[in-house]
Amino acid sequence: MTAPVVTVRVPAKVNVQLAVGPLRRDGFHDLANVFLAVGLYDEVTVTPLASGMGDPTADSLRLTVEGPDAEHVPLDASNLAARAAIALAGRHGIAPDVHIHIAKDIPVAGGMAGGSADAAGALLACDTLWGIGSTREELLAICAELGSDVPFSLVGGAALGRGRGEILTPLEVGGTFHWVFALADGGLSTPAVYAECDRLRADTRPLSSPGGPPVPEAAAAPALLEALRTGDPIALASALTNDLQPAALSLRPSLAATLHTGTQAGALASLVSGSGPTCAFLAKDAESATSLAAALTASGTCRAARVTSAPARGATVL
Ligand code: ATP
Repeated sequence: MTAPVVTVRVPAKVNVQLAVGPLRRDGFHDLANVFLAVGLYDEVTVTPLASGMGDPTADSLRLTVEGPDAEHVPLDASNLAARAAIALAGRHGIAPDVHIHIAKDIPVAGGMAGGSADAAGALLACDTLWGIGSTREELLAICAELGSDVPFSLVGGAALGRGRGEILTPLEVGGTFHWVFALADGGLSTPAVYAECDRLRADTRPLSSPGGPPVPEAAAAPALLEALRTGDPIALASALTNDLQPAALSLRPSLAATLHTGTQAGALASLVSGSGPTCAFLAKDAESATSLAAALTASGTCRAARVTSAPARGATVL
C-alpha cells in the first residue's frame, strides 16, 4: 500500500500598505498591514514517517527543502513548518511523525513571508493527513501563535491585518493586478528592519519638533482599500506605502538602484516588499510586466526578476 501524501500550495505576499504605529510595551508595533497574496508559491508535502507505524527508532519529524534558496532554510525545530506540525500534533495529543518536504520558490528572508507560508502550508497539510478536520478558526488560532504573517498565508486573497498583523479582515479585490518582483542576493532580518525603523524615527523626531510628536497610530488608507475594491492599478499605484522602506534602504542602500530601474522602465509604482530586500513593481498590464522584468534583469540590479499576478488563493490542498 502506498503511503498517503498531502501537498499544499501556499502563496507569498506583498504589503500594499504597511503602516507601522508606535512601539508597544511588548516590543511589537501596532500595524495597519494590507496584505495581498501573489502568485509565487511554496509547496509543502507531508508523508507519514515509519515511526508512526510502530518503528520507535525512526526520527519523529523529518524536514527536507529543495529550491534555489534551500541552503538558507533551517532544518531544525526552528523551521516554521516543523513548528506548525508540532503545534498541531501537541493540541491533539499525537506524535508529529511526519516527513515535511518544502519545494521552495518564495525567496528566503525576502519580505514575502516565505517562512509563514510554509507554516500555514504544513499546518493545513498535517491537519488533512492526520484527518483532524480542524475548523478554519482553530487553524487561524494556531497560525496566530506561530507568527504575525501566518494567518494571512492561510487565507490569501487580500486582507487588512491589525494588531501585529494577525487580526485579519478580508478585503474585496475587483480585478487582477500585475506585479514584478526583483529578488535580491541575501536576505534582511525582519526584526533588524523594525529596529532600524525605530532608530531612524528616534533620530528624526527631535529635529521635526522639539520634544518629538508621537508616532501616529497606524490606519488603513481609504484610497488604497477603494483601489483594491475597484481593481484599478493606477489608483493602487498612487496609494502604495511601506513605512519600513526607509529602514530597508538604510540597511541595504543598493535597493535604491533597483527601485529606480523599475520606475525608469515604466512601473506604475516601485516599493520594497515588506521588510525587504525583495522589491515589488506594479505594472499596468501583463505585457508591461514582462518588459519591466526584462529591464530589471538586464540592469544587473537584482538577482532575478519574477512576473506574477494577484490576488492569489491562500493555502490550498492540491
Ligand atoms: P516576513 O515577510 O514574514 O517578515 P521574510 O519573508 O522576510 O518574512 P522568511 O523567508 O519567512 O522571511 O524567513 C525569515 C527567517 O525565518 C529565515 O532567515 C529563517 O532563518 C527562518 N525560517 C524558519 N522557517 C523557515 C522556512 N520554512 N522558510 C524560510 N525561512 C524560515
